[in-house]
Amino acid sequence: MKIATQLLHSIPVDELTGAISVPIYQTSTFVQESPGINKGFEFSRANNPTRKVLENIICSLEEGHAGFAFASGMAAIDAVMKLLKSGDEIMAVEDTYGGIFQMFQHMFERFGIKANFVDTSNIDKVLAAITPNTKMIWLESPTNPTLRVSDIKSISKIAKQHNVLLVVDNTLCTPLLQQPIPLGADIVIHSATKYLAGHTDVIAGLVVVNTKTLADQLRFNQNISGSILSPFEAWLTIRGIETLCLRLDKQCSNAMAVATWLSAHPAVDKVFYPGLASHKNHHIARKQQKQYGALVSFSLKNDNIKNAIRVVNTTRLFKLAESFGGVKSMLDHPATMTHRNIPEDHRKKTGLQDSCIRLSVGIEDAEDLINDLKQALDKLNLPAGKQITVLQ
Ligand SMILES: *Cc1c(COP(=O)(O)O)cnc(C)c1O
Repeated sequence: MKIATQLLHSIPVDELTGAISVPIYQTSTFVQESPGINKGFEFSRANNPTRKVLENIICSLEEGHAGFAFASGMAAIDAVMKLLKSGDEIMAVEDTYGGIFQMFQHMFERFGIKANFVDTSNIDKVLAAITPNTKMIWLESPTNPTLRVSDIKSISKIAKQHNVLLVVDNTLCTPLLQQPIPLGADIVIHSATKYLAGHTDVIAGLVVVNTKTLADQLRFNQNISGSILSPFEAWLTIRGIETLCLRLDKQCSNAMAVATWLSAHPAVDKVFYPGLASHKNHHIARKQQKQYGALVSFSLKNDNIKNAIRVVNTTRLFKLAESFGGVKSMLDHPATMTHRNIPEDHRKKTGLQDSCIRLSVGIEDAEDLINDLKQALDKLNLPAGKQITVLQ
């Protein structure tokens, strides 16, 4: 079966009633026939039938051994980090998601787990940064917002040689565009809040692991820390996944159209989109991704925060909001919004400019999206007196 068919038909019909929509089992506990004799469910923190459907879907799409659903992407990451112990080191992609940067630096560092941030798009730097204490390599590919791509297969070989777990945050691609486990990763993470749920109405996180040993550890962490996804949020996520193929196809083709158009606009300096041949890591993306995703970032020739804010305040269809992956187009100014907690020197080191604007391209008509950006960018050339009010 092709993926579009596999995806829909990995969502089961309810055996008990024939319900074609997955039932929401809104219950905390399950009645047992005799102590330990039950229908496979005891308490919803440990296991819940609605959540289990979602966990099986993501496991099947990522071709892993077991899946787990959490209350958020961050809760999923927290559960994976708790596979480590004090004294262990983690090598993380340099321009990791802002929340992950903070979690590694300001939470797990206090528990004696040190994070070492490395430009993993460069294999030599990965090799050079491995120490005897490195226990985990943490990748995001592509990263956000500058969309750097790391070679998952090559890094997985290094990880195996050094007995290091390879974790890939696959939020930006979803399993439809990239499958890290067949490429050699041990663990895949998703903020399902983004493309998987896809309608900006749920916060959810998913983990898929490739062995029984890891599955047992993760199941323990999920149950004991207890940051599980509720049955209703699990249902919303399943419902979102049903249309993932359609949404993502449209979003990727819209993103390519927008990125191509932006590249030719006189006010635009750099365009970051791995689908453009001019992108630094295009050759790696072409090798390991089916399409190039729907995040597009760009910087302005006049590289300053004021100009970027002028643009994000002027678009009409692109709504100014944090997060991405929904059906409606959104935009973000990372330096003052999603990435404001990242120290400026680290931000600059990863190539994130003051004027960088991140677009989450939705499913609208590409021409309308381009016209919206055009009217916003064209206003940059107005004389100073005619500018719209600028937030400070
Ligand atoms: C949003 C995001 C997270 C965090 O997920 P939440 O669902 O917001 O907790 C982690 N990684 C990446 C790449 C993200 O974009």
